[in-house]
Amino acid sequence: MVLLASLLAFAQGPARHVNQQRLWATLEKLSEFGRPAGAGFEGGVTRVGFSEEDLAARGWLMQQMREAGLEVRVDPAGNIFGKRAGSEKFPTILFGSHIDSVPRGGNFDGDVGSLGALEVMRALRDGKIATRHPLEIVIWTNEEGHHFGRGLLGSSAAAGLLSADVLERRDEEGKTLADWLRRYGQDPARLADARIAPGALAAYLELHIEQGGVLDESKIQIGVVQGIVGIHWWTCTASGFANHAGTTPMNRRQDALAAAARAALAVREEVRAESGRQVGTIGYVRVEPGARNIIPGRVEFPVELRDLDAAKVLRIWARIEKRFAEIAKEENVKLDCVPLQADEPALTDTAIQNDIRAAARAAGYSTLDLPSGAGHDAQQIAKLAPIGMIFVPSRGGISHSPREYSAPADVANGAEVLYRTILLLDERLNRKP
Ligand SMILES: [Zn+2]
Repeated sequence: MVLLASLLAFAQGPARHVNQQRLWATLEKLSEFGRPAGAGFEGGVTRVGFSEEDLAARGWLMQQMREAGLEVRVDPAGNIFGKRAGSEKFPTILFGSHIDSVPRGGNFDGDVGSLGALEVMRALRDGKIATRHPLEIVIWTNEEGHHFGRGLLGSSAAAGLLSADVLERRDEEGKTLADWLRRYGQDPARLADARIAPGALAAYLELHIEQGGVLDESKIQIGVVQGIVGIHWWTCTASGFANHAGTTPMNRRQDALAAAARAALAVREEVRAESGRQVGTIGYVRVEPGARNIIPGRVEFPVELRDLDAAKVLRIWARIEKRFAEIAKEENVKLDCVPLQADEPALTDTAIQNDIRAAARAAGYSTLDLPSGAGHDAQQIAKLAPIGMIFVPSRGGISHSPREYSAPADVANGAEVLYRTILLLDERLNRKP
């Protein structure tokens, strides 16, 4: 019997420290804040940052954090922190995510990492586990940035990357960000004080849904995030000559749209020409004058390239520019591009990647290294401390949609890996040689 029991235990993998039912029930409860009328847990959510729904959810979550024995505070950017003391005067191991959503979003983006962090704290209390480092949960303000056009708002303030002029931006009801921070109990004049002091953090961890389909398709339980990709934007203009669509022969046209169409395909070809996970997109075309019977004289389109390796992006861009020059010549148009924005990639710490892999292996889960194609608060905190990110599968790779879903076991696996990684970090960091 003993042998049978141990064989069964082996087949099921080591027991979890986190409680799957408790975590799932807490996710369900959070989903009530901003739930569409008549919908259930799987009917999505609209809980935009700086909204009544967000305000109510924050109040509820702070109460949950207090009940878990945490010391709760809110910083001047509205970020919520919940602290658990350590036995030594070491810098803090910080972990968390966000609870704001996009309009008509899902109940997993941000929520899994936020409530996964809470579940880790509950499990540590249940197990009476003491750590050397202080541990702290963070719930970042307005990650999605739907209001005030500033995503990663709370983490940007913490990293000292937010300028004060953002306070005067208005939402659709005319309220400023400063007004909302007051409603969140904060003094907007102190926004700069949200900055986290250099050296205050030992590490930052974020558990998140993948929001892509790689883990789901490959049936792998845990994604070890290599970094958050850099995003490079250019705005391009094809300038030809708008002329009569009936009287201008085909060989005498300077068709800006024909050139832009060829440019779009050239972008795809050059991005695909190298192996790797880099992506390139032309998200729109603006055609002028935009009439049925006029040859397009001018077309504006953006080019977006994303990858973990900024040098690779620039190498691909150099080839694209060469192709654009050839197309311009052949189509007898001008094709000019200007750089608009370049967000550098944020790499995760390789030692923390190893910890996450070891934590997952010890729990009996499969892992895959992958980049994050979406932005996360972790990329801002990378400027302050070594970061690590843990991904769990998103069903069908769907996110920012009411159909976003991650299975209860996958969510709990992610929280378990977070739990184990925190304890590995607590063991490894600040050791005297
Ligand atoms: Zn998110």
